[in-house]
Amino acid sequence: MAQLWIPGPTEVRPELLAACARPMIGHRSATMTETIERMDPHLRFAFGLADDSSATVAVHSASASAMMEAALIGAGRGRVLSLVNGAFSKRWHKIAEQLGRDAHAIEVPMGGIVPLDEVRRVLDEEGPFDALTFVSSETSTGTATPLEPLGQLLAHYPDTLLLADMVSWIAGAPVDFDANHLDFSLAGIQKAFALPPGIAVVCASEAFMRRARSQPDRGFYLDPVRFIDGHVARKTPATPAISLYFALAQQLEDISAGVTLPESAGSCSGADAWQARFDKHRRMQARTVEWAAGHGLSLLPDPDLGSPTVSCVRAGHLDVQALVAGLAHRGYAISNGYGDLKGKTFRIGHMGDHSEQGLNGLLAAADEVLA
Ligand SMILES: *Cc1c(COP(=O)(O)O)cnc(C)c1O
Repeated sequence: MAQLWIPGPTEVRPELLAACARPMIGHRSATMTETIERMDPHLRFAFGLADDSSATVAVHSASASAMMEAALIGAGRGRVLSLVNGAFSKRWHKIAEQLGRDAHAIEVPMGGIVPLDEVRRVLDEEGPFDALTFVSSETSTGTATPLEPLGQLLAHYPDTLLLADMVSWIAGAPVDFDANHLDFSLAGIQKAFALPPGIAVVCASEAFMRRARSQPDRGFYLDPVRFIDGHVARKTPATPAISLYFALAQQLEDISAGVTLPESAGSCSGADAWQARFDKHRRMQARTVEWAAGHGLSLLPDPDLGSPTVSCVRAGHLDVQALVAGLAHRGYAISNGYGDLKGKTFRIGHMGDHSEQGLNGLLAAADEVLA
């Protein structure tokens, strides 16, 4: 089997696969309650919650896309503004349309980010909006939208909830949920958390919960109030993916204990261990950019907008299919470009528990293929 360096799902450590293989338990058992309880302190690190934060973390058995839908169900029935700069941000806009919302979008070419001035103009001229959606790391283009300036801007529009898809961001880069004025943040666990797909983690602000509670007809399974209150009460609304809960609890504890860090990071724990993990991904991104430059290639986005967990490289004259096939032959899976970018770009997912040493192995194999 080829090692997964695609932009998700990514490699899962054997210890975590073993956690998934634990014997089944009843989901109303004390062990299940304990498993959920083990997660919260570490999820607070993952979302970067302030000590006195009034935000709530939760887990739900569903894909990240389901949480994109849940976020909009909670945010209300008014207008939704979506910042669209790739496939996943576009999906969120589509979900808003399918829910029957008055859905607006500001779309920029893939590899770019929506300019803040334009966001401000649309908020002022076409608002009010109930919610603004964006994707912090557009996995389709390897583009990161800086959180702080957007959060600062939205702080001036308190009725517009700021909803963030952080699927390939969380556990790979700092979220600072409160400081960045986020109201709802969601992620699946198959990307930077390096676990099998199937459950999602979320964080909701007090303002989001207040808004959600006031909405009628929120449905059942994707009602954010039901599954977030359920998490807090340690009672899932339906039978959860218990095996994945085992693995997530283990992985969260391992990240906080520094178990997943390279030796060079020294021994650290808690918030420091999460920061050291984020630093590792930044170094891996820099290494990938340097490698690409060595072949006369550059990233699709501006270098300072490159995602810390997935690099999307412009292929130039290079035959992407041959590169992907040559790497597969050497035991490495990377991805072709997404949609229209197929053949024009390729993507390397340096996320999760991948190491810098592992990345060097992949890049050396790529050198061989290109030679
Ligand atoms: C993978 C991904 C998704 C979709 O996740 P699913 O678990 O397949 O629903 C959404 N957003 C981003 C940014 C992603 O990378």
